Amino acid sequence: MKIQFLGAAKTVTGSCFLLKSDTRTLLVDCGLHQGNKAIEQRNREEGILSPSALDGIFITHAHIDHSGLLPKLVASGYEKPIFCTAATKELLEIMLIDSAHIQEMEAKNASKKYARRGWGLPPKPLYTQEDAEKTCSLLTPVAYQEPFEPFAGIRAIYTNAGHILGSGSLHLCIQEGKQSTSLLFSGDVGRPNSLIVQDPDTPETADYIFLESTYGDRDHKNEERSVHELKEAIDYSYRQGEKVLIPAFAVERTQEILCCLHMLAKANALPKDMPIFVDSPLAIRASAVFSRHRDLFDAQTRALLGNGEDIFALPNLFYTERTEESQAINERKGPAIVIAASGMCTAGRIKHHLRHQLWRTGASIVFVGYQAQGTIGRKLIDGAQVITLFGEDIQVAAKIFTINGFSGHAGQSQLLAWLAPLLRPTTQVVLVHGEAKAQRILSQKIFDQFGLSCAVPDYLEEMDLCGQTIAETVMHADAAYPTIAWDALANDVERQWAIFRERLRDIEHKPWVDQKELEDRLATIQYHLNRLITRV
Ligand SMILES: [Zn+2]
Ligand SMILES: [Zn+2]
Repeated sequence: MKIQFLGAAKTVTGSCFLLKSDTRTLLVDCGLHQGNKAIEQRNREEGILSPSALDGIFITHAHIDHSGLLPKLVASGYEKPIFCTAATKELLEIMLIDSAHIQEMEAKNASKKYARRGWGLPPKPLYTQEDAEKTCSLLTPVAYQEPFEPFAGIRAIYTNAGHILGSGSLHLCIQEGKQSTSLLFSGDVGRPNSLIVQDPDTPETADYIFLESTYGDRDHKNEERSVHELKEAIDYSYRQGEKVLIPAFAVERTQEILCCLHMLAKANALPKDMPIFVDSPLAIRASAVFSRHRDLFDAQTRALLGNGEDIFALPNLFYTERTEESQAINERKGPAIVIAASGMCTAGRIKHHLRHQLWRTGASIVFVGYQAQGTIGRKLIDGAQVITLFGEDIQVAAKIFTINGFSGHAGQSQLLAWLAPLLRPTTQVVLVHGEAKAQRILSQKIFDQFGLSCAVPDYLEEMDLCGQTIAETVMHADAAYPTIAWDALANDVERQWAIFRERLRDIEHKPWVDQKELEDRLATIQYHLNRLITRV
């Protein structure tokens, strides 16, 4: 049996694992790559995956970095079942449509920009709402803890991963002739004692465990400290009459933050005249799905609901659905809390709010979730002084808060505790869904504690799984990381510069007004070159 890593390999986004047994070709997750332009280009790569060769797809949970490329696959001909839990199905039904809407909007904006600038054909949307609807018709719900046989010789079972509503770890047992191989995909593993969802369950063990490693290098600060930090950020901006922006995934994180604000309000720790806006139509619809699945809530949340408390409601909480309502938030004077998606600031309304707030002294940006490499969110928590948004450079004067305690992911010791009962001397642990540093540190920890060496696959790498070992691995480094010809690029720039020097004589004969315009252009180039130099 072979597995190829089509995403979430030495990165956290784009989860997608292609499994080829003697008889079946299966996909586990089919996520969108999120990050900078280079990472997101992977969403458009063709020829890596052939939809007609696939027999079935399993989705671990609804987050777009695990599901967001499904409609692209369906648009190119995939029409077999997509297995997931019932709550994941309901969440995907709103999230995929939303994602398609974003794709269509971005393509529309890009086509206007291309036309204005006289560039060639604009990029098409990755997929449309119609593709997303067709995808939803293929979603096949299955229950937690109930083994099912999607195909002869394959047994599958989902257990609760405690990460978001409906999230699962997937256990597969695949028969090839007399040989049976078991594989466990952790999916994103949640944090025990997190708000709303129940703690992760312990799944069945397997020959191969594909373990997420987002926080493989650190533990989270405790939750109480995080609630206190959130309060600090709110107080800071309230005193200055400014806004608090909370970029948050529309699913789970937004509901958790609301639950937390609800508890702060109960303790009289929130200013009464500071409105809270949930500025995300998707978050509004997701909250409705949550309300329908109270059976999946943990005991603490159910107790609150039992008292008649609505954890998603507060006296000065407003859900803004329409674009005009969203725009009005920024025109509104005075302090406010704004929760908007996307969580890593790669798309959505949060980018507009950042444009209005980043440069304002006294405003705060509060990060409550993981920020992947290359995203605007990551640049901000890494201390960027200037951020480019919608083609404009914006100075960062707002205060940046990073609160880790709300994470939807298990921290290092929690991952180790999840893994411990599953290990046998022959278990092969493969680390996915993490950045290189987190994976290196977690891998060392697993070796120190359990004496097991982990495999850490790269993007597009293929592994041959044989018996209980990894028999062979094949790298595709050229396709995964095309070489950047820095020397040739620098030579080009030098050649252009030489031409410019030659033409300087002619510039001096131009009218002064025209010369001033050219001087401005040169100043812009110098500014960008300077920014480039400081980043090298
Ligand atoms: Zn997730
Ligand atoms: Zn994930």
